Amino acid sequence: MSIDFSEQMDAPIITTRATPQDEMEFSLRPKTLADYTGQEKAKGNLAVYIEAAKRRSEPLDHVLLYGPPGLGKTTLAGVIANEMGVNIRVTSGPAIEKAGDLAALLTNLNPGDILFIDEIHRLNRAVEEILYPAMEDFAIDIIVGKGPSANSIRLDLPKFTLIGATTRAGQLSSPLRDRFGVSLRLELYTTQELARIITRSATLLGMEIDPDGALELASRSRGTPRIANRFLRRVRDFAEVYYNGVITREAVDHALSRLEVDKLGLDSIDRRMLSSIIHNYGGGPVGLETLAATIGEEAITLEDVYEPYLMQIGFLTRTPRGRCVTQLAYNHLHIERDGQQTLDI
Ligand code: ADP
Repeated sequence: MSIDFSEQMDAPIITTRATPQDEMEFSLRPKTLADYTGQEKAKGNLAVYIEAAKRRSEPLDHVLLYGPPGLGKTTLAGVIANEMGVNIRVTSGPAIEKAGDLAALLTNLNPGDILFIDEIHRLNRAVEEILYPAMEDFAIDIIVGKGPSANSIRLDLPKFTLIGATTRAGQLSSPLRDRFGVSLRLELYTTQELARIITRSATLLGMEIDPDGALELASRSRGTPRIANRFLRRVRDFAEVYYNGVITREAVDHALSRLEVDKLGLDSIDRRMLSSIIHNYGGGPVGLETLAATIGEEAITLEDVYEPYLMQIGFLTRTPRGRCVTQLAYNHLHIERDGQQTLDI
């Protein structure tokens, strides 16, 4: 039997941004801390803060969640709302264009509600300034009238919790960062944690997966649940067509090889990035912008999506003078230090 997978293969498989096909993510999102796999440190602290806030019958302190895309920041915000038993309003930095948009959102909150702002580092300055008194004093200042007769009126807000999510905590202005009482960094997941997430997703989606299949998929998902869930859908197609619907290690290997994702989860862009540093810049250091221009990708994509994993597996280091490739990457790509390709590839 021959099936054409070319359409599926055209979509960038490693993107960690949510795509329309990720709609299904909503059904896979865990709702409770107990169901939320991994991130033990963040979860442990949060459980205490949530319990304490509930005992005092007060809203939770403002929370900043940061870390690479696809690690579960939005999911965790939903879990917090559920555990606190409050409503959550979801928006994002670029979606709030004017100060008035934010004022409208804030004045419509009920006491205890959570306002979740994704990509909070992308709020514009005027909007951000409304947020300071809102977070600190639960009030906003509104200007009424124009010219000399203009008046500033202070409007009280219900006590609420702001949860901000960002991939780049370093880009947050310090007045904003300082107003978060709780700041939690999400880490890339271990293979075992991802295997648990994959098995849970497969069960929810009614797929049959064996433990070796889950582990193989997990070890190739770059420590990121969003990628793991996305791979799972692709692998399901191969499993149905070639492996009696069971997601086995062979099914995973077959599907991911066809998608050009290697044993460590690296795709063609990772490989281009590493080999470009090796071949064009003698292994580094090379500046991010220069590297991005050389391989024709956006610097921000390389930094947010590709680098965290390459650094985690020890293939890439960041130095003040730029990015450098390590010996491990040379070995993985079968390239000798002098830039020659070894014969076994
Ligand atoms: P972010 O907001 O950090 O980009 P999301 O919260 O949208 O990431 O998570 C992406 C997907 O990964 C979610 O739909 C969810 O199904 C899954 N996911 C993330 N974290 C976990 C987790 N800890 N346990 C189970 N599934 C998770």
